[in-house]
Amino acid sequence: MVIVTSQKITQEEWDFLCKKLEDWGFQLNVIQGVEKKVIGAVGDKRRVDFQFLESIPGVEKVIPILSPYKLAAKDARPEGTLIEVGDLKLGKGYFGVIAGPCAVESEDQIFKVAEGIKKAGAKGLRGGAFKPRTSPYSFQGLEEEGLRLLSRARTQSGLPIVTELMNLTELEIVTEYTDIIQIGARNMQNFGLLRAVGRQPKPVLLKRGLAATIEEWLMAAEYIMAEGNPSVILCERGIRTFETATRNTLDLSAIPLVKSRCHLPVVVDPSHGTGKRKLVLPMAKAAVMAGADGLLIEVHPDPANAWSDGEQSLNLPEFQDLMEQIKVLVQLEGKKM
Ligand code: PEP
Ligand code: MN
Repeated sequence: MVIVTSQKITQEEWDFLCKKLEDWGFQLNVIQGVEKKVIGAVGDKRRVDFQFLESIPGVEKVIPILSPYKLAAKDARPEGTLIEVGDLKLGKGYFGVIAGPCAVESEDQIFKVAEGIKKAGAKGLRGGAFKPRTSPYSFQGLEEEGLRLLSRARTQSGLPIVTELMNLTELEIVTEYTDIIQIGARNMQNFGLLRAVGRQPKPVLLKRGLAATIEEWLMAAEYIMAEGNPSVILCERGIRTFETATRNTLDLSAIPLVKSRCHLPVVVDPSHGTGKRKLVLPMAKAAVMAGADGLLIEVHPDPANAWSDGEQSLNLPEFQDLMEQIKVLVQLEGKKM
């Protein structure tokens, strides 16, 4: 990192700063400018608190050179990462679609969806069994029964399943049933949960937090990877802004930005990203063109009677239409589906 010192730094402040940096293990290269001194500090800055460093008297500015995430950084694997579960392939030139209801409601519902989305070309089945609901009075998911139904839908359809893990107490049961563990937006910075999924081998779909910066999101991925699990799929699902016309503001610029800084596959969830059925198709198309590696789409056989998120769910014919439209775009992007 580069430390720019103030014009008025005293000898005492300078000595304190240099001693602090050396204690942290940095090698110092001092550049004497006309008005200011600049320090090129070489070493592992992961142990350093930037806010603290900038608060040291005499310090004007601290400029990091490397990203604070190491394992998730693009430089760690410039060729990109492919995550493969059954026929679902995400990243490194592969595009995959995961679809299914917000929540598993019944055997009939999940079987119908699984069959329909498979026919349309989806390679993964999503469905919530433990649901993070804003109100404690809303439907909370079928819990273990939901997991069992998902698992039967997998046997029947051959599609790998994705379901959310909300609490550490459910880690064992959820990992036993699912193929990919979803960490929801509300848990993106639940560091204990991130560490726990990092210590097991199944891939993790990590949703961006409701108000998380891209750096915080990538640091959350780093938590999982630092525990030994390299299989993290990032999912942009919209962030909270002042806009109320949509449920969230889908940050499509995050796709190329994250892909320039990180080697992990990025999928987009235009269902939660917009909260509006009519916006799902245009945003899915835009996501493909912005460089996404996949999509996560809520699909329900009868959205008008869904137990959760019906307003943003597509029915099966709508999903089939979406798949037909995006296939062309995926090809245009030079990716395989
Ligand atoms: C979901 O995928 O059903 C969900 C609750 O998503 P998020 O965590 O992005 O709100
Ligand atoms: Mn939902």
